[in-house]
Amino acid sequence: MRQPRVIMEVGDDGVAVITVSNPPVNALALTIFDGLKEKYAEAMRRDDVKAVVLAGDAGKFSGGFDINVFERVHKTGDASILPETSISVAVNVIEDGKKPTVAALQGLALGGGLELALAAHARIAAPKTLLGLPELTLGVIPGSGGTQRLPRLIGLPKALELMLFSKPITSEEGNDLGLVDAVVPSDELIKASRQWALDIIERRKPWIRSLHRIDKLGSVPEVVDIIKTARQQAKQSFKNVPQHQACLDVIEEGIIHGGYHGILKESSVFKDLIFTDASKGLVHAFFSQRATSKVPNVSDIGLKPRKISKVAIIGGGLMGSGIATALILSNIYVILKEINSEYLLKGIKAIEGNVRSLVSRKKLAKDKAEKALLMVKGTLDYTDFKDVDMVIEAVVEHIPLKQKIFADIEKACPPHCILASNTSTIDLNVVGEKTKSQDRIIGAHFFSPAHVMPLLEVVRTEKTSAQVILDLMNVGKIIKKVPVVVGNCTGFAVNRAFFPYSQSAHLLLHLGVDLFRIDQLISNFGLPLGPFQLQDVAGYGVVVATTEIFRTSFPDRTFQSPLVGLLLKNGRNGKNNGKGYYIFEKGSKPKPDPSVLPIIEESRRTINIMPGGKPISVTDEEIIQMILFPVVNEACRVLDEGVVVRASDLDTASILGMSFPSYRGGIIFWADTIGADIIYKSLQKWSELYGNFFRPSRYLEERATRGIPLSAPATTSPAAKARL
Ligand code: NAD
Repeated sequence: MRQPRVIMEVGDDGVAVITVSNPPVNALALTIFDGLKEKYAEAMRRDDVKAVVLAGDAGKFSGGFDINVFERVHKTGDASILPETSISVAVNVIEDGKKPTVAALQGLALGGGLELALAAHARIAAPKTLLGLPELTLGVIPGSGGTQRLPRLIGLPKALELMLFSKPITSEEGNDLGLVDAVVPSDELIKASRQWALDIIERRKPWIRSLHRIDKLGSVPEVVDIIKTARQQAKQSFKNVPQHQACLDVIEEGIIHGGYHGILKESSVFKDLIFTDASKGLVHAFFSQRATSKVPNVSDIGLKPRKISKVAIIGGGLMGSGIATALILSNIYVILKEINSEYLLKGIKAIEGNVRSLVSRKKLAKDKAEKALLMVKGTLDYTDFKDVDMVIEAVVEHIPLKQKIFADIEKACPPHCILASNTSTIDLNVVGEKTKSQDRIIGAHFFSPAHVMPLLEVVRTEKTSAQVILDLMNVGKIIKKVPVVVGNCTGFAVNRAFFPYSQSAHLLLHLGVDLFRIDQLISNFGLPLGPFQLQDVAGYGVVVATTEIFRTSFPDRTFQSPLVGLLLKNGRNGKNNGKGYYIFEKGSKPKPDPSVLPIIEESRRTINIMPGGKPISVTDEEIIQMILFPVVNEACRVLDEGVVVRASDLDTASILGMSFPSYRGGIIFWADTIGADIIYKSLQKWSELYGNFFRPSRYLEERATRGIPLSAPATTSPAAKARL
């Protein structure tokens, strides 16, 4: 791999083009800053250099500061490896340099990359260049003057939107806002930037130091007012993390006391934020997601993914229509098969609805939507299956039906065709039992709604070929999902690890804890929906079916009560009919429904598990732990059995599949911040008090006793060895 470097070429026109080179995205590695200082010093010294153009190599300006450095700071606790660049490079070298700099932007200019460009005296960009300051997604704030210069260039309200929501914009939008001075064709970028730099020298264009501008900031009372409103909104939108409020503090400081003061505060706040749990969790989540594409014996054996141009989907219900939507939006032809024309039409209409709702929410251009809708064709038989590259079966969860379909498609499809099932629970060996094509059988487990949720569990059996796994991972990437390869077991990785989530909530409820208190605490913890509201939204049919499947597979740790049956008898089916634990009315948030309480009382009386007939007394913290430690416990079994390649895959899967808060790093990362020992002892205590449901797993016990983090690799259980 080529070392990061900075190169300089001086033209006859007296313009030095200083280029950052660190493929693939020209990340700003530590040595890049030294290189910049060195080349700038030379450019300032040389008499034949009048001005500088700052550029990025190979069609990209820069993807930003090298995030590996954040990880190193987290691991070592040593912040001294963070370079001081805000004053020493952005202010002293670029902005206050005695010769002007024009930034030539293309591809992307993000984070620290855009911050260097903001310090330049003008910015020229190629079309569709992505510009943004996404630092808050890593738990920090822009650290090289971005919090100060962006509001000065584009005004405070828009700058807040870009920073607080980490929202990128294109160079065209940047041009309208004043962030970019001109958009020019890519092949003219360097020439136009050189000319602009010379124009600054010749006084034909202004020599602007962004940090000194105040014309777009508004009056102090206006600023204070905007920041006050932003603080309240950020409090609602970004719970449990400090970086949004800190970013607002820093911006306010600079506007009230001057840009340079703002820069100083920005640097010191940045250094505090990098050590927060939120930053550690978010950086871990970032690297975990990246690691999912490395799968031993699949991605490292020289295989190339085959092209998948046409996919058949069997079943146009909730999942089939969502999967079809995701595929056509990424230019993959879809054949949708249903049992009759009425259901087929319903499926096609659902796809149209999905696509059109993206248009109405301005997430998709109208012409792209129309083009996508031409990529789907309906059918009622297997004639069109003769040239498909992959089938994804998404019919109801019924074993004989799925087995029959797999036997049929084995005959109808070409021999290279991948035979995938979207089953959420059934063993794939059972699904493919009646075929001779076990090496082509794989699980493609999407989450609902399939065109929105980012996770794709790629479920392999012992017989699935490496090529088929790689192909499905590749399709997942093409349709903008994050594929995580998992093993074949009841519930796979996510549903398996999280089945105790609602189970423990029900157990607590029957021990006398208030259901709305449980939901509120879990939502305060950071999951979008508490366990009871989640059941209302999923529908009780799903709850009954999955409880039954888990009860069959894991009878030793499944809690059962008559509650859901009683709710259904009472005419409640959650969101489906507007009445569950909550009342669902169009246009308003779900409201807790007190009339559900007598039904809960009846269920409590029936199973009568409260010690001494009295509700147990638990703290808020204990409630969160009693809901989530059993999830950690099951996640330990998932690790022990080698269902995932590495512990961090389960972190990614929990964030993307269950919306576990990313700032907590994922389920295993979070558990390790608490400690295996504490989790083990708590579960041990509760299992003595309340039964086997809480019994700690072998893996957890071993890790707790030996003081090893749950995330540490190398599980050696026979099940894990057999699987990998
Ligand atoms: P659904 O009931 O909404 O849709 C199933 C569709 O399959 C129906 O439209 C039905 O007419 C059709 N169908 C049945 N037999 C068929 C056949 N022989 N040929 C063609 N079409 C046929 O069900 P769903 O919620 O979309 O679930 C489908 C699968 O996805 C199940 O295996 C389920 O476990 C899995 N899954 C569901 C979810 C979820 O949240 N609903 C999430 C992940 C996975």
